[in-house]
Amino acid sequence: MFFSRFFGVLALSLIVSVAISARNVSAQSTSSRAVAAGSVSFGGAPADGSKEPRLERFDPNLVDKTLDPCDDFYKYACNKWITANPIPPDQVYWTTGSGLQLWNENLLRETLVAASTNDPKRSAVQQKIGDYWAACMDENGIEAAGLKPLQPELQRIATLKSKKEITLEIARLHHLFPGAWLSGDNQTDTPFFGFVGKQDYDDASKVVAQIDQGGLSLPSRDYYLKTDDKSKELLGKFKAHVEKMFVLAGESEAQATSDAGTVIDLETAMAEAQMDNVKRRDPKEMNNRMTLAQVREVAPSIDWDAYLKAVKAPASEHYIVTSPEFFRAEEKLLSQHPLGDWQAYMRWQLIHGAAPQLNKAVVDENFDFFARTLAGAQQPRPRWRRCVAAADRDLGDALGQAYVDRAFPPESKTRTIQMVHSIENALNTDIQSLAWMSAATREQAIAKLKGIEDKIGYPAHWHDYSTVKITRDSYLNNVSQATSYEFERWAAKIGKPVDRSEWTMTPPTINAYYDPQLNTINFPAGILQPPYFDPTKDDAVNYGAIGMVIGHEIIHGFDDEGRKFDAQGNLRDWWTPEDAKQYDERGKCISDEYTQDVPDAGPGVRQNGLLTQGEDTADNGGIHLSLNALEATLKQQGKSLDDKGEDGWTYRQRFFLANAYSWCANVRPEITRLIVTTDPHSMPVYRIDNVISNMSEFQQAFGCKAGQKMVRANACRVW
Ligand SMILES: [Zn+2]
Repeated sequence: MFFSRFFGVLALSLIVSVAISARNVSAQSTSSRAVAAGSVSFGGAPADGSKEPRLERFDPNLVDKTLDPCDDFYKYACNKWITANPIPPDQVYWTTGSGLQLWNENLLRETLVAASTNDPKRSAVQQKIGDYWAACMDENGIEAAGLKPLQPELQRIATLKSKKEITLEIARLHHLFPGAWLSGDNQTDTPFFGFVGKQDYDDASKVVAQIDQGGLSLPSRDYYLKTDDKSKELLGKFKAHVEKMFVLAGESEAQATSDAGTVIDLETAMAEAQMDNVKRRDPKEMNNRMTLAQVREVAPSIDWDAYLKAVKAPASEHYIVTSPEFFRAEEKLLSQHPLGDWQAYMRWQLIHGAAPQLNKAVVDENFDFFARTLAGAQQPRPRWRRCVAAADRDLGDALGQAYVDRAFPPESKTRTIQMVHSIENALNTDIQSLAWMSAATREQAIAKLKGIEDKIGYPAHWHDYSTVKITRDSYLNNVSQATSYEFERWAAKIGKPVDRSEWTMTPPTINAYYDPQLNTINFPAGILQPPYFDPTKDDAVNYGAIGMVIGHEIIHGFDDEGRKFDAQGNLRDWWTPEDAKQYDERGKCISDEYTQDVPDAGPGVRQNGLLTQGEDTADNGGIHLSLNALEATLKQQGKSLDDKGEDGWTYRQRFFLANAYSWCANVRPEITRLIVTTDPHSMPVYRIDNVISNMSEFQQAFGCKAGQKMVRANACRVW
């Protein structure tokens, strides 16, 4: 997906996973961390939730034969499906994977409902997930409580006596709501800054403290800083939203207006100081090592010793401060602005973080801005879907076990592993035969490929939630309890040996990722389902859909970002200067190609090919690998790519059609704009048309000729 929880974890993103705000939606997939009211919903059913979940399966009859495949292949493959599947009002896009999203959520709901009976014979795990569900679904109880559960927190902020006391309140906010440790690739929105225990860039065998920029509520710094009319309009609407939320929390109109102004000023200043999302793709830019003494010096207004104690962080060998400039600017802000301004900012962060867990008036206002205005949703998802997503985010391993038992048979795992191995073999062949790569670099590349660990379906160990206190009484409190557990669990990793079994996506997630510091590829059980992996379909269809996904994740180890890490996950340059130069030239072809207008997002909106270069490289390389692996697999069966199957299509054609089908999508213009501004993935239409127009193998499949749109004169190829 989009994104993953941690920097540098490179995911697939089925557009399913737009991060709007880590606390509102979140890092990954629709499924996993999309939470709550204010969140954009990804995939799923009509608002009433009544539609029977239906898995989409590839069917070549869906091809629109009135169109020319060489003119716009995405349209050729998807037009009929797109016309027949409009976006439900509570969704911001609707894809061939949306039926699976709903199907997965239904399985989770059944598990949650069964566990929610107040039966004394329930297991400890059932008690956790069942009571979590009961509290989340208790709309009447939440309504009756109103803003009451927030009062002690508001009170504590109100009674702060000096700016020295701000530090402990930051630690408190980081424990209350998901965000601080959810450091996605474009993470910007945890109060003040982010904190997590993470593998060291230089020595991947160690876990050190990482302190990241943060402070914003909008999806990226661009939303504060761009000066075109549309951007100014959105910032104005954001200010109106902040005012309304303050009023809902009990402030007078006058105070709410003044406080909203303060919030916008502070967040805009933090946005200015943030490192932008293109620079953040370069791990060397992020790898700023400091001693604790240096951290104290950069931002002395924060009492770092008190913070580290409050989040129970063990001593770290050193500290990675991803963006020292950000902390210098935050220091200036902390010293210049009076305590009252920071109290307003913290009140806002508190209400904003709590919003999805509160009463209807707050939920609706949060939805209205973050889902309707920013993403284009017309109505909120039904409550059950929001509660499923929240439970998956907060108690994902407990729910994930039940999902795997019901939805992921051993045969699926076996067939996936076979495909992974054949696609890894295809990359091995590719690397061995590359004319532009020297023997020295080739040897290192092969070592890195051989070092990749394949993780399929679910983790080897499940997290133990026994210390997380979940009750039926307070949804807000349950979210905070689960957040505290997860936040401190990541902090506690500092100084300990690396846990190689850790996953950063839950099993039902419809997504996949490569982790450059663990050198692992990860495919949750949630994506190993139709239309991506379909046990009822032939190899051509499965290599076209999930095979391309597998190739995509493997290539992430060798894209412009991933290639900077070695087989052990260390940030180390293993390329000869000449090979690096050759690589960069090929990479530039990709980033130039994808620097393009995106008319669906509105006039003047342009994709930045430098932001999407890694994902585009993975898309282009991934499909090559998968096609080559299919060819090798067919050969073993005495067949070739251009043999015709029973339906009259060749295997090669079925491969490309199934690939395009798995990306068919209806997308609202609002979310398109958000994705183009913040997301390192290209929109689905470009993930098909740009990719295949670079491929002679595609032109061969459909007899396309030079001069046609799907035949690019300056075709790019990295892998
Ligand atoms: Zn990716």
